[in-house]
Amino acid sequence: ASQRVMNFGAGPSALPTAVLEKATEGLFNFAGTGIGIAEISHRSTQFRAYIAKVADSIRTELQVPSTHQILFMQGGGTGQFATVVLNMLARHRLLYPDLPEEERTLDYCVTGQWSKKAMEEAQRLGGAKVNVAVNGKEHSADGKSFDSIPPHDTFKFSANPALIYYCENETVDGVQYSHESDSPASFPFHLLKQDTLLPLVADYSSSFMSRPINRIADHAIVFAGAQKNLGPAGLTVVIVRQDCIVDVDAAAKLGAMPVPIIMAYKTICEFDSLYNTPSVLAIYVAGLVLDRMKEKGGIKFYEAGNKRKSEKLYAALQEGVDKGVIKARVKEGSRSWMNITFDVLTEGGEARYLEGGIKRGMKGMDGHRSVGGIRVSLYNAITEEETDKLVEYIKEFVAAES
Ligand code: PMP
Repeated sequence: ASQRVMNFGAGPSALPTAVLEKATEGLFNFAGTGIGIAEISHRSTQFRAYIAKVADSIRTELQVPSTHQILFMQGGGTGQFATVVLNMLARHRLLYPDLPEEERTLDYCVTGQWSKKAMEEAQRLGGAKVNVAVNGKEHSADGKSFDSIPPHDTFKFSANPALIYYCENETVDGVQYSHESDSPASFPFHLLKQDTLLPLVADYSSSFMSRPINRIADHAIVFAGAQKNLGPAGLTVVIVRQDCIVDVDAAAKLGAMPVPIIMAYKTICEFDSLYNTPSVLAIYVAGLVLDRMKEKGGIKFYEAGNKRKSEKLYAALQEGVDKGVIKARVKEGSRSWMNITFDVLTEGGEARYLEGGIKRGMKGMDGHRSVGGIRVSLYNAITEEETDKLVEYIKEFVAAES
C-alpha cells in the first residue's frame, strides 16, 4: 500500500486502500466459507445474502423509493445505451400500440461525449425517431466543444416521447448539471409534463454515489457503471421504476423490437439479478465500498467532501487563469465536481504539467484521447489531503510558468 500513487484517473479509478486490503481477505475466504469470492457459487446462500445487502445499502444511501427496483447488470454504461432504448420502446408500445411510427420519439439531451454516444446508439437501433432535445455544442463558445449546460429555454422536448435521456455528469468534457434548482445549469425538470410517469432516463456513471440523485423519484431509470465511485468495472447498477419493467415479448408481438433476454429488465428483476452469473467480484468490492461509506457517515459526508475538493481545485485553477497559464474548459455553473478539465496555455506546458505531476506521484491526469488537455478526476476515493497536494502542485506550476 505504501507504494501507491495518487490516481486522478477518470475510470477505472482509485479505490480506498482499506477496501482493497479487505477485498484481499475475501479473495481467499468469503464470508467465512473458506472459499474465495471469485470461486464461490453466485447461488450460494452467502452470496445471495451479500448481493441483497449491497442493494439495500444503495437503497438507503440514495433513498431509492419503493416504486423503484435496484438491478445489477453487466455491459457497462455502454450496454445501457441500448438497454434503456429497448425496454422503454417496449413500454411505449404497450402503452400506445396504435401510435403512428413517426410519432414514436426518443428525446436526447446532448451535453457531452457520453450523451452523444448514447444518442448515436439510439439512431443505430432504429425503431423510433431520435429527437436531439438540446445540443450543447451549438451553445458553446467555439461552437464545437461541450462547455456548458445550455439555457433551459433551448431544450425542446417531444409531446409524448418514449424516453427523455440525459447524462448527469459528462466524464470526458467535465460538464455536470447543477443540483440547485434555481441554477440555470440544473436539469429543466419544470419543462417536463408532470401529469404522467416521466420516461426520464439518466446516466449517472461518473457521479453515482458522489452525491444524492436529484429528484430520484421522477426518474424512470438511473444507471451507472460501477468503475468510478463504487467499485471495479464489470458491474452496472440500474435503478428502474416498476412501470418500466415490462413484458418485452408481449410488446414484440405488437411490433416492438425484440429484446435479448439478458437485456430485459423484467428477467433481471424476476431473478433478483441472478438470472445468469453476475460480476461476483465487482459486486463484492462495491459492497465493501458501501460499508466504508456508511462508516464514514454516508453519502452526505462524501457530498460535502466532494464539493469542498472541487471548489479548492477550481480556485487554484482560477489563479492560473488570472495569470494566463491555464484555461478552464467549462463555464462556471456547469463545472463538474468529479472531472475537472482544463488546458495549459504555455508552449509545451501540458507535457511539463503531466511530468511534474508524475514526479510527485500523481498519475492519470491526461485528458480523454478524444479531446486532449488535462483532466483531473476527484472521485470519492480521492482524499482531501491528496486534493491539497494537487492544489499545492498546481500553484507551484502556475508560478513557474508565469
Ligand atoms: N457514461 C459515462 C458518463 C461514462 O463516464 C462512461 C465511461 N467512462 C460510460 C457511459 C461508458 O461506460 P462503460 O465503459 O462502462 O461502458
